[in-house]
Amino acid sequence: MIVKNGLLALPGESDYRRASIRVRDERIAEIAESLPPLQGEEEIDASGLLVFPGAIDPHVHFDEPGFTSREDFLHGSSEAARGGVTTVIDMPCTSLPPVIDLPALENKLSHISKSALVDFALYGGVSGHAVAKSLGGAGIDGSGGGDMAKLAPKVVGFKCYFISGMESFTRVTREDFARVVAEAERLGRPVLLHAEDLDYVTAATARVKAARGSAKPEWSDYADSRPEAAETTAVAAALALARGRESTLHIVHVGTAAAAELVREAGATCETCAHYLAFGREDFGPEGAALGAALKTAPVVKGRAEREKLWRLLASGSIDFLASDHAPCTREEKESGDVWTAYGGIPGVGTGFPYLYSEGLARGRLTLPRFLEASSGAAAKRYGLSARKGALVPGHDADMAFVDPKGNTRIEGSRLLSKGRITPFEGMILAGVVTATFVRGRPVYEGARGIVGEPGYGRFLTWGYA
Ligand SMILES: [Zn+2]
Repeated sequence: MIVKNGLLALPGESDYRRASIRVRDERIAEIAESLPPLQGEEEIDASGLLVFPGAIDPHVHFDEPGFTSREDFLHGSSEAARGGVTTVIDMPCTSLPPVIDLPALENKLSHISKSALVDFALYGGVSGHAVAKSLGGAGIDGSGGGDMAKLAPKVVGFKCYFISGMESFTRVTREDFARVVAEAERLGRPVLLHAEDLDYVTAATARVKAARGSAKPEWSDYADSRPEAAETTAVAAALALARGRESTLHIVHVGTAAAAELVREAGATCETCAHYLAFGREDFGPEGAALGAALKTAPVVKGRAEREKLWRLLASGSIDFLASDHAPCTREEKESGDVWTAYGGIPGVGTGFPYLYSEGLARGRLTLPRFLEASSGAAAKRYGLSARKGALVPGHDADMAFVDPKGNTRIEGSRLLSKGRITPFEGMILAGVVTATFVRGRPVYEGARGIVGEPGYGRFLTWGYA
């Protein structure tokens, strides 16, 4: 197959290059100004289209098996394909049993392998209730032999929390965390941390609730319960505990610019999400008039002033890449009518790449090389997939997203392919349209026809995939 006449986004190049791509045996075989077709070779005309490496979303909660009323791999990976995403990395904490040991991982694979439309990798988890088993007697310098060591060949990182609302996946203590980082470093895998400070959030929540008394809580209460300081405090502690091993640490879903700066100065990595770039806490209310529960996530979006700071940090590479933290739920869970009990999480796997293209690249906030790093290249490197993912270069998998730069995309929850249809991006009009998504040379999504891939086509990827 040849993709001809497209404007290719090639790694390190400051502008698009009009060239053709030859795809053979799932991979990019050749890139050249013109490629005459071989006998019988299919040609796809990409005239007028931008051709990007398929996006990598390294933070999704597809919830299968266990919480499939919220999301499953079929719907989640369909929505990924719709949004130009060709590889997702799924979190261990929101499936049952959580992926904290090898049997749980194998069980999860037996469910999701049949339904994934795009390629996927998994994280292992370290839950507070099973730390000893995870470490397997590893000391602070790591002797291993536990579930982390057994999981390492099959996962691209380990996730843990400083604060958790999940009964089946609890927070780690700070001492546990230091030992987890040491063991992960020994195993050559990053530790991904949800960094909000339990002490801070617990106290702030109690204070805010007491101040409100018997009056109906407002969205500002939720925002006040998890302010910037809850995030910076946790990040500072994590960096102190990982001292000397900072390169093993990755902070997920950073919404506070100062937290990202701490991460960068220390030599760790971090990600942000489209909702932190697009919204501020002001967008929750006033009561009933604005986004409300549709915007509820944890961490919560911060003041609107954070947004441009986060954009600048993403543009400079101080924030390494974008992730969605895709975590939808049922309408009932979202619309509980209570700021404290409404589900904290939103769908995002299908809207992140289009949003980053429109508001980052098309608006000139990101250069083309930074856009490529933020949407695919940097995550591929961080998670051991860069030998074949994350760039349009010969030898790599032919993962591609076509974008028509002249079109517009109106985000409508009712058209998402995820099980979750409530999005804070509802009604937003973005520049550009994803017109097709290819995974290893096969179309999985074509604008007019919708999903054309087959469930089960998605390949399970592990660290060092080559
Ligand atoms: Zn998450």
